[in-house]
Amino acid sequence: MPELPEVEVVKQSLDKKIKEKKVRKILVRNRNLRKKVPFNFEFFFLNEKILKVSRFSKYLILHFSNKKKCLIHLGMSGTIHYVKNNKKNMITNTSFYNSPKLPTKHNHIEIFFDDCKIVYNDPRRFGFFEIVENEKILKKKFNHLGPEPFHLSYNLDYIYYKLRGKEKNIKNFLIDQNFVSGIGNIYASEILFLSKINPNKKAKNLKKNDCMKILINSKKVLLEAISKGGSSIKDFKNISGNQGGFQNEFKVYQREGLKCKRTNCSGIIKKKNISNRSTFFCNSCQK
Ligand SMILES: [Zn+2]
Repeated sequence: MPELPEVEVVKQSLDKKIKEKKVRKILVRNRNLRKKVPFNFEFFFLNEKILKVSRFSKYLILHFSNKKKCLIHLGMSGTIHYVKNNKKNMITNTSFYNSPKLPTKHNHIEIFFDDCKIVYNDPRRFGFFEIVENEKILKKKFNHLGPEPFHLSYNLDYIYYKLRGKEKNIKNFLIDQNFVSGIGNIYASEILFLSKINPNKKAKNLKKNDCMKILINSKKVLLEAISKGGSSIKDFKNISGNQGGFQNEFKVYQREGLKCKRTNCSGIIKKKNISNRSTFFCNSCQK
C-alpha cells in the first residue's frame, strides 16, 4: 500500500508531466471504486487546465483552472500511468507499485490531454476519485486528519499530550491517520526502530524523551524515503526509469530472523502481528 513517500513520488511525476495541460476527454470504464465515481465526472473538468498537482497525506489533488479539484486516493493497489501518444511499450507507472507498464486489465479511469493521457489502474478498487468544488470544501475534507509529520503542529507538545494516559500501543498510534497523516506499516516500524521503542509499548508509558525521538525520527524516515524515491517493494521502476531505493535502507521491515543492524546490538528482528498488521522490531534494543 502506498504511503506518504510513494504518493509524493507520484505527485512529483504528475506535476511534471501534466501541469498546464488541458483535459480533452475523460473516460470512466468502471464507476465502482471505493466511492462511486460521480456521473458527471466525465464532463466536469472538460477543457479545463491543470494548474498544479499537490498532495496531502496519501491524497493527490489535481487543481483545475475553474478552481475545482479532483481528489484521488490510491487505496491499496491503485497506480497512475502516464501514457504518451504514439509511444508503445514504455514504462508508464508513476509509482513503484505493481506493473511498470500499463496493464491491460483494471484500467478504470482515463484522462486525455492533447499529447498524452493518464490512466488509473486498480485491481482491488479501494482507491477513489472525487470532485471537490473549492478550496474551502477541500480543507474540510482533511479536517479529521492529523498533521503531516513535516508540519509545525506535529511537535513535541502535540505528541506528548495526545499519547498521555492512553492504553493504545505506539505502533497503532503511528499508523492512526487522526494522530499523524501519511505513516503506514513500513515507516512506523522503521521510526520505532530508530527511536529504540518497542511497537507494543503502551502510549501512556512513553516518556517525553521518547516522544522527542518519535518526532525527530518520523521526519527523518519520511524525508529520507522521499529523497530515495520511495520504496520499491517489487523492484519496479517508474517513468523516469528510476527505482525507489528506500527498501535498501530498511532496518527492520521485512528483515524477520535477520541480525539487528544497530552497532553493538546482537538482537534478532522479529515479526509480530499487531491489529492484523505485520510489525517488525528488534527483540533486544527496542524497549
Ligand atoms: Zn537491536
